[in-house]
Amino acid sequence: MNRQTATARAVEESIRWRERPRKSFAPFRADQDFACDVFGRQAMRARLPKSVFQSLIQTIEHGEPLDTEVANVVATAMKDWALERGATRYTHWFQPLTGLTAEKHESLIMPDGPGRVVYALSGSELIQGEPDASSFPSGGLRATFEARGYTAWDPSSPAFIVRGDHDATLCIPTAFVSWNGEALDKKTPLLRSIDALGEQALRILRIFGTDAGVSRVYTTLGAEQEYFLVDSNYFHARPDLVSCGRTLFGARPPKGQQLADHYFGSIPQRVLAFMDEVEVELHRLGVPVRTRHNEVAPGQYELAPVFEETNVACDHQMLIMETLTRVAPRYGFKALLHEKPFLGVNGSGKHNNWSITTDTGVNLLDPRDETHTNMQFLVFLCAVIQAVDRHSDLLRASIASAANDHRLGANEAPPAIMSVFLGDMLMDIIEQLEQGDAKRTIKKGAINLGAKSLPQIPRHSGDRNRTSPFAFTGNKFEFRAVGSSDSVAWPNTVINTIVAESLDDIATQLEKAVGANPTAAKLEQAVKRVLKQVISEHKRIIFNGDNYSKEWHAEAERRGLPNLRNTVEAVPCLKSRKAVALFKKYNVLTKPELESRVNIFLEKYAKQCMIEAEQMVAIGRTAILPAAIEHQARVAESVAATEGAGVDCESGRQALEDLVELVEQFREALAQLEKAARLEQDLEEQPLAAARHIQSRVHPAMDEVRRLGDQLEATIADELWPLPTYREMLSTR
Ligand code: ADP
Ligand code: MG
Repeated sequence: MNRQTATARAVEESIRWRERPRKSFAPFRADQDFACDVFGRQAMRARLPKSVFQSLIQTIEHGEPLDTEVANVVATAMKDWALERGATRYTHWFQPLTGLTAEKHESLIMPDGPGRVVYALSGSELIQGEPDASSFPSGGLRATFEARGYTAWDPSSPAFIVRGDHDATLCIPTAFVSWNGEALDKKTPLLRSIDALGEQALRILRIFGTDAGVSRVYTTLGAEQEYFLVDSNYFHARPDLVSCGRTLFGARPPKGQQLADHYFGSIPQRVLAFMDEVEVELHRLGVPVRTRHNEVAPGQYELAPVFEETNVACDHQMLIMETLTRVAPRYGFKALLHEKPFLGVNGSGKHNNWSITTDTGVNLLDPRDETHTNMQFLVFLCAVIQAVDRHSDLLRASIASAANDHRLGANEAPPAIMSVFLGDMLMDIIEQLEQGDAKRTIKKGAINLGAKSLPQIPRHSGDRNRTSPFAFTGNKFEFRAVGSSDSVAWPNTVINTIVAESLDDIATQLEKAVGANPTAAKLEQAVKRVLKQVISEHKRIIFNGDNYSKEWHAEAERRGLPNLRNTVEAVPCLKSRKAVALFKKYNVLTKPELESRVNIFLEKYAKQCMIEAEQMVAIGRTAILPAAIEHQARVAESVAATEGAGVDCESGRQALEDLVELVEQFREALAQLEKAARLEQDLEEQPLAAARHIQSRVHPAMDEVRRLGDQLEATIADELWPLPTYREMLSTR
């Protein structure tokens, strides 16, 4: 589709949506429809014999092995439930290291004698599947000739139904492992890391004697999702959006986000209709989405769920991304989940809100009133601080990708330097503890609004800091550097593991100090001593100021904090001896499993970048250059005609010369890029060498092509420009 057609259609579509008569609608009844497509606890309780239900709960909550008989009964109940909802297929749904989800559908129909069929799902089919694993990335874990991979049912994440036009499919969340049990997915290490953290956290509770009735500690997660919507017509007229998810060219529009008139603005009718449908679909799947609003950039939006247990929240996060992508075309939109679809405009992230809770419902990161007396909270807080300082490199690596490289540090997203924000109240307590004892908690107070009719509202104990990569926000930490298109499973695996180690460390010291018969006084003394030590060693990671400022970069360097500016610098940290030992010690990843991930991350980085480079050359050669040459011919003709008529045309001649020069430079830059993009390293054999080459040679060449391309856009006749512009894409809805 050319730009003119795309623009005409997009504008028509936009007007049609605005002028469309309002439909009457059947309201979504949360009490009846919420999670109606989920085989969750409610459905299980209603449909399973009591003993089977209880034994399943034992498996879900305490990891007790699942009995074959129980599995058979559950499978049959699940199948009947799915059939009632129109499903005739089922699939093991898993998350390979591509970062996406995978499914291979099987029919529930089984031949049953001549001319007859029955619907069936056996216990063993529920528990285990064997998809051909050979084409999923394994990063060297497994040779293609031994391509066996198994999917294993994760009963802690409920099965759900995905509805198609003619059929529905029962999706069973599973882990994906190789035949010798190595994790080939994102879920397996996540589950291991939750176990590791839970075990260490329980030790702390035992020390404080607060473990009564607690049988499990786990983490909670609420991930806010940012995304862009562009009209599908524009999307299809931009080969770069189609193949790379981001624009490789595009001059800055005169009106971007300067006026901040999009942020929290009223949501356009067409976008609202889209959001409504997304939310209805997600609510049916039991995904508790709650908040929606316009984000900072024009055309950018956000959606946030209520937090859940991390494993389920991660699965739900994948469903959120899939649902946004699937529903958008019904409204003539394309949902862009890329971290930086438009240069010079804010990018998209995924704020990862993380906390630790007991199965009795106590949030262990809740400071409560009189925080300075809440020693248990302070232990958990300091454990997180210590973990982030010790392993800020791993945390940084956990969110590294080609796409996120464009966003981090771009003055809209936290920099690549990891640090922790605490706020005034906690900072004050930390400083007191460093001196040996904490004696007071700064009071929050109330805000007087100065108008009699307005209520007094309570003030939070600390202001927000939107610039910090890892901020304490009241009763949880918010990891803000996560990219919008990434699975949240991996960053959470890393957070859980580093905090598990830190808690282990502190628990060991405290256990030693208080001995077999602890007294309150002895414990308090020991805690104060240990925390004083932790704080003095690790307080360099705490920063409460503006993370976007230049001063912070200098200050961070003085403090010796790592600044891993891009994926190529960050990912190799995962191979360090320290990292290997950490993941091994807590049974989260073996050395080969970890190494395979490093290879996959680098390979993915290199492949994505190479696709971009190739796409850029193609657009430059086949779309921009022809337009530029056409424009050049027009200018030349006009100069010749003017001079032919005997009129002096100095400035026209000058403009022509400048244009010829610019076109020449552009052509040369394309040739340079093409040359740089001819890789000598084999991508799969030497992913690090390839990635380094891309970072140092291909990216600068791409920057130059882009600079000149954008200059051409600003120079040549608008009617000749072949690509939908930023102004068009960002303003039509
Ligand atoms: P914002 O940060 O946008 O002001 P909130 O702080 O209310 O909004 O919540 C943001 C996200 O944090 C939501 O998804 C919410 O469910 C999640 N959240 C709140 N409490 C917790 C918790 N204890 N653990 C994990 N996530 C949480
Ligand atoms: Mg937030």
